[in-house]
Amino acid sequence: MSILRINISKLSEGAHQRSLQAAPGEIGLDSRFTKEVCVEAALESTSRQLYVHAEIKTGGLFKCDRCLEEVEREVSSVFGIVYVAESRAEVGEDEDMRVLSPDANYIDLDEDVRQYAILALPQKTLCTEDCAGLCPTCGTNLNRAKCECRNEAVDSPLSGLQKFTKN
Ligand SMILES: [Zn+2]
Ligand SMILES: [Zn+2]
Repeated sequence: MSILRINISKLSEGAHQRSLQAAPGEIGLDSRFTKEVCVEAALESTSRQLYVHAEIKTGGLFKCDRCLEEVEREVSSVFGIVYVAESRAEVGEDEDMRVLSPDANYIDLDEDVRQYAILALPQKTLCTEDCAGLCPTCGTNLNRAKCECRNEAVDSPLSGLQKFTKN
C-alpha cells in the first residue's frame, strides 16, 4: 500500500490542501536520503478531472565528488498530475496525465514522489566550490591536511617522450 495516499472518495469540487509525510525508505528512496519526505499537495477538483500540484521536500547526505566527504543537502521538487476520467482531456505541457477509473477511492503518490526526488538530485555534488579533493597518491583529504607527495602526473608522459626523442 502506498504511504503517500490521498483519499478522493468524498472530495468535493473545488480546492483542497493535503500534507503528507513518509520516511525515505518507505517510498523506496535509497539510504542517501535521510530526511523525512514532506509533500504539500494542492488539489483542484472538478466534475471531469482532478489536478494535483505537489511540492516535495526532503534531504540527505551525499558524497562530494572530489573528496568523498558526506555533505548534507536539501532536495526539493514540484510536479503536477492531472487525473481524468477519460484520456481525451487536454493537458498542459509540464503535467503528467493519468486516467482514473470512476470508482477509484485513492490516488497514490509514492512512485511519483520517489522519481521526482531522484530527478532533483544535482548532477555534481561538491562540499565547497573550491574543494581540493584527495591526493591521488596517498589519499589524504587535501582540504584538511597537506601531504608530502609530489603529484606531477602531467609531467610523466612528457618525460617519457623526451627520453624517446633523445635516442
Ligand atoms: Zn569535497
Ligand atoms: Zn599525498
